[in-house]
Amino acid sequence: MIFKELLFPRRCPVCDRPAPFGKDICPACQGAFVKIRGPVCFKCGKQLQDQTKEYCNDCQKTHHLFERGLALYEYNSVSRAMYGYKFSGRAEFGQYFGRQMAIHFAGYLKKWQIQAIVPVPLHKKKLKVRGYNQAYLLAKSLSDYTGIPIYDKLIIRQRNTKPMKELDPKSRQINLKNAFIMGRYDVKLQRVVIVDDIYTTGATIDAMSKVLKDAGADRIYFLTLSIGRGL
Ligand SMILES: [Zn+2]
Ligand SMILES: [Zn+2]
Repeated sequence: MIFKELLFPRRCPVCDRPAPFGKDICPACQGAFVKIRGPVCFKCGKQLQDQTKEYCNDCQKTHHLFERGLALYEYNSVSRAMYGYKFSGRAEFGQYFGRQMAIHFAGYLKKWQIQAIVPVPLHKKKLKVRGYNQAYLLAKSLSDYTGIPIYDKLIIRQRNTKPMKELDPKSRQINLKNAFIMGRYDVKLQRVVIVDDIYTTGATIDAMSKVLKDAGADRIYFLTLSIGRGL
């Protein structure tokens, strides 16, 4: 590994400049990622502007099926890194971000007594086009770090849904209706954490929570790499 690095210096997967020896990402890019700081919404983990509130405006209006969730970075600060990387292996990238999530959230996974890490699945057609599932890469790294098993075939996306960013919250829910089914029924899990790269309205996490709860799961949590700003 070290010899390989001496011969072929690692490049920063975000900006393509040479990364310092032994580092995955260059310090300039790493410094630009903004972590979510408290106080956060007790449900979705969005940073709150009003410190006296317990929940963000969205969560006050919506009944979520999950217990709660947390995100690591402000979406705007990592969006370019998440989607704009063209230069480096995405596995390396998933490892870096997944490890950051693990370092920050390992304590919560323990507290929540999580038995299974479940990445948000991609439809098989989309997976074929993209070649990888970003949520899976994060979940895999989180699993490697914590030792909690990953179940990436537990839930299957059976419908290729429309891109969510074009839709309002109500249409998102309709779009996701029957999108997920259980892929395996032979495992009984009570406490599950769903992993994704971004949290927006929570419609995806809710749709998956519904399927898991119908199959007998008790408490569903989520962890995402990024989240937008709350009110
Ligand atoms: Zn960089
Ligand atoms: Zn919230």
